Amino acid sequence: MHEWALAESIVMAAVETAQKEKLKTITEVTVHIGELQQIEKEIFLFALNELAKSQKPKIKNDAFHLKTEKSTLVCKTCGHCWKYSDMKKKLNETESESIHFIPEVVFVHARCPSCGSPDFEITKGRGVTLTSIKGVR
Ligand SMILES: [Zn+2]
Repeated sequence: MHEWALAESIVMAAVETAQKEKLKTITEVTVHIGELQQIEKEIFLFALNELAKSQKPKIKNDAFHLKTEKSTLVCKTCGHCWKYSDMKKKLNETESESIHFIPEVVFVHARCPSCGSPDFEITKGRGVTLTSIKGVR
């Protein structure tokens, strides 16, 4: 149930920011979810809305907006940068499915499109990030 833990950290961060900004009500919270983040969005959103109910400052109903952030990978050998979405087209359904559930699997199936090296890292599009918050004072 790590969706609940992630939701809790997002709600806490939103509340902290709102307190600093002296907001009375939080009206909008934008959360970016990395393409390679293993998460059930429906459960995550449900958890956010549930946790939002008992907060101070108040968080408006349906304040949360989830956006998918494209994942970027960078080759450690040649420095080439590419998008996971480009690579995904070359993977079969089973492969992209397993990557969705265990992002680390990407390292088994992927090679640098430029030099063929299996040594690369995910630079963007992992994790869950609170990107913006709006509210009224
Ligand atoms: Zn390379």
